[in-house]
Amino acid sequence: MTRFKIEIERPLCISCESCVNVCPGFWEMAEDGFSHLKGSKRVGDNEEREMDDAGCNIDAAEICPVICIHVYENGKKII
Ligand code: SF4
Repeated sequence: MTRFKIEIERPLCISCESCVNVCPGFWEMAEDGFSHLKGSKRVGDNEEREMDDAGCNIDAAEICPVICIHVYENGKKII
């Protein structure tokens, strides 16, 4: 089982670009003006990606001013 799942609730994004600045390897601004998690799959309005190491996605989740980035570890939400 993959250890981490990263999720973004895109409708809540206010396009501040903070996540891109702290974690550019995983985050970019999409053409629709909202943040996009690279390599993720679309689930409804959200995006999700599983990975073995959350890396700077934890920083991205912590810096997001509207708390729309979430990190799950072994199925438990940690941010
Ligand atoms: S930090 Fe949050 S609000 Fe800002 S661009 Fe990233 S997802 Fe959107």
